Amino acid sequence: MVSERLASIPESTTMKISAMAKKLNAAGLDVIDLGVGEPDFDTPKNICDAAIDSIRRGETHYLPTSGIPELRAAIAEKLYNDNGIEISPDLVSVVPGAKMAIFAAIQALLDEGDECVLIGPSWVSYEPCVNFAGGRVRWAQVDEEFKPTDLADSITSKTRMILVNSPSNPTGAVFGREILEEIGDLAIDHNLAVLSDEIYEKIVYGQEHISMGSFPGMSERTVTVNGFSKCYAMTGWRLGYLAGPQEVMKWVNRILSHSVSHATTFVQWAGIEALKGPQDSIRAMVAEFKERRDLLVSGLEDIGIVCSLPGGAFYVFPDVSEFGGGDSFAERMLSEAMVAATPGSAFGPGGVGHVRISYAASKERLTEALERMGKMLG
Ligand code: PMP
Ligand code: GLU
Repeated sequence: MVSERLASIPESTTMKISAMAKKLNAAGLDVIDLGVGEPDFDTPKNICDAAIDSIRRGETHYLPTSGIPELRAAIAEKLYNDNGIEISPDLVSVVPGAKMAIFAAIQALLDEGDECVLIGPSWVSYEPCVNFAGGRVRWAQVDEEFKPTDLADSITSKTRMILVNSPSNPTGAVFGREILEEIGDLAIDHNLAVLSDEIYEKIVYGQEHISMGSFPGMSERTVTVNGFSKCYAMTGWRLGYLAGPQEVMKWVNRILSHSVSHATTFVQWAGIEALKGPQDSIRAMVAEFKERRDLLVSGLEDIGIVCSLPGGAFYVFPDVSEFGGGDSFAERMLSEAMVAATPGSAFGPGGVGHVRISYAASKERLTEALERMGKMLG
């Protein structure tokens, strides 16, 4: 009864593992969930209050597809001030989560048989989104620090786009100016689009986040994606956005108008407060993440798992090939240590030897997880 096209689309491993950990905990087991990438902080109160106030004002009706003008203007202002991207609010669309932004942008950019370059281990949903569009992924290789090594060789006559995700999920790598310039030059030379997923932009540890859309000549070929899930601990609110060239955004809006219609009305008002209200919760969250990262990386080293220090996001991505590879290691972690982690194979062929461990969990839970893993490794 179902389409053949969908037969190649796998379940999202991150969502699957999170659901499994929740189910085991509900059954009374004490599983430490380091599988899913979700801040364990509460959404700041001022943001919650803005949503509640807007419901009370009666902001509960349909909106134009691309979102309320006040939020689109606030996003355009943010893109200019934080990212150096000059774009009209007319070219910003608000969507229910950055995931939908990525889905819609890829459907708008790719035709059947077109190729999208992904740089090394990449977030679980990119390849399925490319496959939904009838396209295919070409994987660019990376070095031990997850920086690209053969980008130019990954471009073929079928390539239409390069996807950039810095800071990266799952590797935590943050790309510097030189790499981004190389990507930009390739995109210009080969007339490619760049989809820049910047959802972890604020979660960096002493590194500078640079936006692809800020480079000269890149604004007309870059679609910038961002959202509120990670920086404002708003995962369940489903709020994200994208901004890009008119010819792309026209089709993105058409996809949205026939699918989700728009992001939830009162959630959009909360988004305005997130962008315009106090930003100190981000600073506190990032300081806490940095302490957890250091604790986890040195704790893993103590039990014999070597892992590079990620510059951003909230994941470590150690190579566990000597322990049998990512799939079997994640399976052992769950069955023997009751710690959920995501096998690196979920992030493409380059991730097979790795496991992704999220440190969006308290220091107490991370310490407990390290103790359990230490026992597991004997
Ligand atoms: N991009 C990356 C790299 C992510 O890790 C996530 C987390 N789910 C998303 C996009 C989607 O975020 P959202 O919750 O806004 O859909
Ligand atoms: N981005 C998070 C992760 O990678 C949340 C789950 C998802 O949307 O895939 O774990």
